[in-house]
Formats: sequence, structure tokens, C-alpha cells
Amino acid sequence: MRPILDTESPIPIARRGLMLVISSPSGAGKSTIARNLLELDKRFSLSVSVTTRKRRASEIDGVHYHFIGHEEFERLRAGDALLEWAEVHGNFYGTPREAAEQAMREGRDMLFDIDWQGARQLVEQAKTDIVSIFILPPSMEELRARLLRRAEDSGDTIAMRMKNASVEIERWRDYEYVVVNDDLDRAFSAVLSIVNAERLRRDRRPGLFDFTAQLLEEAKTLQTS
Ligand code: 5GP
Repeated sequence: MRPILDTESPIPIARRGLMLVISSPSGAGKSTIARNLLELDKRFSLSVSVTTRKRRASEIDGVHYHFIGHEEFERLRAGDALLEWAEVHGNFYGTPREAAEQAMREGRDMLFDIDWQGARQLVEQAKTDIVSIFILPPSMEELRARLLRRAEDSGDTIAMRMKNASVEIERWRDYEYVVVNDDLDRAFSAVLSIVNAERLRRDRRPGLFDFTAQLLEEAKTLQTS
């Protein structure tokens, strides 16, 4: 991955890009948190997944997902064009390899809104660049209320998503960070804290070698002057 020069820092020090994985059961608020992050922090690009799921009325093809048929999905999967893929709630989802790898080559931070099966596959491939966050609802009752409020899915779909939520919640231990979304502002600010701290990790910043060498050089010059 190409190092990034954070021009938003007062002193730019080269660092590796983040692959931020956010997962949660449907309705826990993950998509809103992801959207807020993309709006606020232009260093992030969203990985736009392919899916065989039907488009919801509020969704735009190519923005929220690339909506494709089963045959096309199978072609991409067989051709190794997906970085990871999974079956979720009876539909297929996958991360297009080329777009993600290009972003990484260009030294951008990438955001992946994927389930635990995909998160696990990404960690296997790119351990050191991944930061994983799991978002939990404050209660199951609130989760159901949010799914009903969204009112974009049929009753059957909502029932299936509630059933699957338990399976997903059981995966919480696979993630480095866990945020309970009882209040959107609070949950979002927790996610920002995680991102900010992860960007400062020593092992993610090869530019620190040059920067500290420069400081020590300067110290020598000051001592002799
Ligand atoms: P939804 O149908 O509500 O948009 O998404 C259902 C679930 O599929 C969510 O948990 C979402 O994170 C997950 N998902 C979306 N895109 C991908 C993907 O490319 N790979 C995997 N593994 N999961 C995905």
C-alpha cells in the first residue's frame, strides 16, 4: 500500500492507508455512521459492493451498491474479481477487488461496510491495514423498531433480518472495537476517536523514520551552534 501524506496534519508524516471495516446487524446504524464519516472526512473512499439484492427505492445504482444478477455475480466470483464475498440474508454481496486495490495503490483510506464473513476474509488477506469496528444496538427492541421505521423492506425481510441479527451479534469478538449505538452523535464520535487514534499508530507510519532522523539531525546542529 502506498503511504499517505496527511496534508490535514500540521506536519505531514507518511502513513499507510486504513482499511476500515464496519459491521453490525441491519438497523444498528452502521450505514448512517458510514455516511457521516464519508461526508466529514474526505480522506475516506467507500468500497461500493456488488449485490444480487433488489435495489431499495432510496438507493442509487453505482453509489450504494452495484446491483447485478446472479450470473454476473458468479462470473465475478469465478474470475477472482472479488476481494471477499458472502451470502447475507439470502442475497450475495461482494467487494470488487480492482476498485479497492486501486484506492490502496493511490494511498487512500477505504471504508468497507460488510458483514462478519467478509470482515474475516479481509483480515486474512491484509491483517495490518485493517481496523475493524462492530456496532451494536442498545437493545433488540430498539433494533426492531429501527427496521420497522425504515419501512423499506417487506415484513418477511424484517423478520429474517431480526433472526439473523442474533447470528451477527455472536461475532462481536472478531472485531477490535465495539461501539454501542444508543445515541448516533455519541456513537459517531466514538468511531472518529478510533479512526484518529489508528492513524497515529507508530507501525502505520513509515514516515516517522525520516521525521525522527530529521529531528535528531537538527538536535546535533543545535548542540554544535
Ligand atoms: P443491506 O442489504 O442491508 O444493504 O446489507 C446487508 C448486509 O450485507 C449488511 O450487513 C452489509 O454490511 C453486508 N454487506 C454489504 N456489502 C457487502 C459485501 O461486499 N461483502 C459482505 N461480506 N457483506 C456485505
